[in-house]
Amino acid sequence: MKRLCKLFPVIAVLLAVIAFSLNAQTIKTPSEKGDFVEYTTYEEMMEFLQEVQATTTEMLLSDYGETIEGRRIPYAIFSRPMVTQPWEAMASGKPVVFMSANIHGGERTVREGLLLLIAELADKTHPTNKLLDDLIILFIPSINPDGLVRATRGNSQGIDLNRDFMKLEQKALYNYIHNLVLKWRPHGWLDGHNGGSQPYNMCYQGPGNIESDINLMNLCDFEMFPFIDQEMLKAGYKSWYYSGGNEERWNVGLTYPRVANNYAGMIDCLGVLYESPSQDRKTGALSALVASKAYLQFFANNPQKVMDYVKRARNETITLGQTASGDIPVKMIKVGEDYKVSYEIVKREGGTRNPDTGRMEGQTSTIVKVTDADIIKKLVATKTRPRPYAYILEPRAHKAIEMLKRHRVTIEVLQEDTELDVEAYIAREINRTSQYDHPASVDSVAVEEEMHKMTQTFPKGTYIIRTGQASGRIVCHMLEPETTDNVITWNAMDAILPGIRSGQGSRGGGRQAGPAIIPIFKLMVPKPLPTKILK
Ligand SMILES: [Zn+2]
Repeated sequence: MKRLCKLFPVIAVLLAVIAFSLNAQTIKTPSEKGDFVEYTTYEEMMEFLQEVQATTTEMLLSDYGETIEGRRIPYAIFSRPMVTQPWEAMASGKPVVFMSANIHGGERTVREGLLLLIAELADKTHPTNKLLDDLIILFIPSINPDGLVRATRGNSQGIDLNRDFMKLEQKALYNYIHNLVLKWRPHGWLDGHNGGSQPYNMCYQGPGNIESDINLMNLCDFEMFPFIDQEMLKAGYKSWYYSGGNEERWNVGLTYPRVANNYAGMIDCLGVLYESPSQDRKTGALSALVASKAYLQFFANNPQKVMDYVKRARNETITLGQTASGDIPVKMIKVGEDYKVSYEIVKREGGTRNPDTGRMEGQTSTIVKVTDADIIKKLVATKTRPRPYAYILEPRAHKAIEMLKRHRVTIEVLQEDTELDVEAYIAREINRTSQYDHPASVDSVAVEEEMHKMTQTFPKGTYIIRTGQASGRIVCHMLEPETTDNVITWNAMDAILPGIRSGQGSRGGGRQAGPAIIPIFKLMVPKPLPTKILK
């Protein structure tokens, strides 16, 4: 009896622990409650996030703005100890990782995976919660709520937000980039979609633009993705590159910076695209949970390494600009890598097309293992231009300045008339073609190889945009006329371009004498300038 009395406090503590663990359980997501038959709606998602918020001290729920139709766009910070501001995150010495999805409103699978992950993270007794020892995680489960309620690819205007990253014309995306991404400058940034190829449960791609830091791209390809494959396999799932292939080659996804993972590369971030291929909703959500956790686990396993890689890339961006060194790749092609790969494809045979539904029926599907095949992923510059110390825009180029400002680019203004030796491009041809689902017509510009060198007095009020800044890669891409997503492409220079039109091969209008100078001037050597930062 005496012994039992002695043991009593121990038993009491044990009982309390058991009671606590029974009590603390992972909250079910709205979709999970119905065994994933239906997707979580926007309203259910908002309620769920608030419900989770009420159960943990390690989550901070907020929103970073609203959509055209006035829907709030939520985000949640998870951290231990709690951080509420980017500078607190920086002081913590931990990597900051963004987990986003549903920029295409109808693509909801990865979002369901992220909601499951949020529930696990909020549960202190769940092993997933340990990620908070090493990481600060921001969840943005739906970037496009107006598209989500319609289950459409675009927003309420039918515009594809995942082609708007350089323009930043769409309210929801501008709010996302300006209010969240460029304030926090995350080390990692996952963007979830529905796409890719069976038999995979998840397809991925790292920064796919040639202007991104090669070391960040290699870290994704050779360390992160093999780790993700391994984690997926452990859970009985398969993963491989986005987007698809045949018996000879596998093609990897898009390269221009107007899409999320490539834009992430432009801000020196380990940006990864996730595409969940067609599968039943439950398998999709559960495999997206495993894949998303694996992405975070890679950061948690290598926090110092990922931060060092990102820091090196960011320092290099600034140094290259400040010393006006290195080349900017302005045109590129994608070719086969120097190594071979093995992967699986699904071959479909036989069957007939149902005239009512237009769908194939009665097909047989077999999984074919392809070995020693090419992977078309290597980026090769076919044209480069030297990086200037700064670009110079005239006061009338205010539309281009607005576009740069959306990206939090630092812009300076000349405080007095200043004579400078500069270079400029001579336009040969300007073509207008409509691109994708953007309503504006878009220019493409052909320029002379030879730069036009000139000495010019720039008046007070002229804009100076240095390339030696954190957004230096974006500055160069946006102000080089030959890239895919520059200020000319997206119509910010229409009013001030020289009078040349498609196929004429000569000056149109005949208004001015002399060469057709594109009014984006390049200052090629570092030079102190009488400027002030534009407010
Ligand atoms: Zn998508």
